[in-house]
Amino acid sequence: MPKTAALIQKKILTWYDRNRRDLPWRAKAGERSDPYAVWISEIMLQQTTVPAVMKYFPRFMSRFPRLEDLAKAPLDEVLVLWQGLGYYARARNMHKAAQILWRQHKGMFPDTAEGLRQLPGIGEYTAGAIAAIAFGQKSVAMDANVERVLARLYAVTDPLPGSKKQLRALAHDIAPAQRAGDFWQALMDLGSTVCVSGRPLCDSCPAQKNCLGLAQGIAASLPRKAEKKPKPKRYGQAFLVCNTKGQILLRRRAGKSMLGDMVELPSSDWDLKNAEKKSAPGLPQAEWKKIKGGVRHGFTHFDLHLDIYAANSNRKIFKEGFWHNIGDLHQMALPTLFKKAIRKALAG
Ligand code: SF4
Repeated sequence: MPKTAALIQKKILTWYDRNRRDLPWRAKAGERSDPYAVWISEIMLQQTTVPAVMKYFPRFMSRFPRLEDLAKAPLDEVLVLWQGLGYYARARNMHKAAQILWRQHKGMFPDTAEGLRQLPGIGEYTAGAIAAIAFGQKSVAMDANVERVLARLYAVTDPLPGSKKQLRALAHDIAPAQRAGDFWQALMDLGSTVCVSGRPLCDSCPAQKNCLGLAQGIAASLPRKAEKKPKPKRYGQAFLVCNTKGQILLRRRAGKSMLGDMVELPSSDWDLKNAEKKSAPGLPQAEWKKIKGGVRHGFTHFDLHLDIYAANSNRKIFKEGFWHNIGDLHQMALPTLFKKAIRKALAG
């Protein structure tokens, strides 16, 4: 290993010993990490910030404190507890992985990144993070914070995502054989408190003297990012039917679809064309009121505009639909999109 890499490791680990963040899923200094807690936190953190996960993690862990509890829980309960974190495929995969671990691995996690990657929902980053943090393996755990620190330390000027391969190779070279988990957590902490996006706080950085980005005066501009293509737009219609018992009609989305197994307002497909629906399927005689403005919702790969139509009826017009009390909607695994649509339709 080059001398500089050894020096950077040492400085960063010393900094970590003094400045580590106290996080509910993180083992205290000298304690063993719990692979289950590390796994849940890493899945939650994939698309969310630490402050948001701080809110959801304790609630999730108090309901499912052990792998067995999660494996034996109904999927619906897991989805309800996941509400607010978005990207529900992660919760479905996590539930599936818990069942595989419980039934086929006697409740034990594989201790290598390769073994972990065989489980649903565990990709390269998550496998590397669990292997390093929970099992002390010399694997690479490169999240956005680590990417930023490495791009600056080594003055990587190629833009992301194209430079990921180069950053990964650098991460591989700098990963220590001992305390790998602490090292990646140190870089994560450094990236979120010192080497922050925008203007880094280099005066507080333990690697200041070894940072090529700082030496070249380009640190704040790194990592560069390739220009994003504008997201495509999709269009759809959702139908809100209220009965005289204060209930609305809901249905469950197909398991393999986007937001699969979640509950929704009966809806059309989401198309690229904005086709105007003249009447709702199944109830042509109802008086449908079009709700002004509809709702807009941004997904990762497209923006959706949903027109909303509302009507009163006691007939269960969609055969797979079911009635649910408006006051108890919080018990349902309802995606944010449909929560917004229901709020808007009920308001007016
Ligand atoms: Fe980041 Fe500055 Fe440290 Fe370089 S010296 S790693 S830019 S905080």
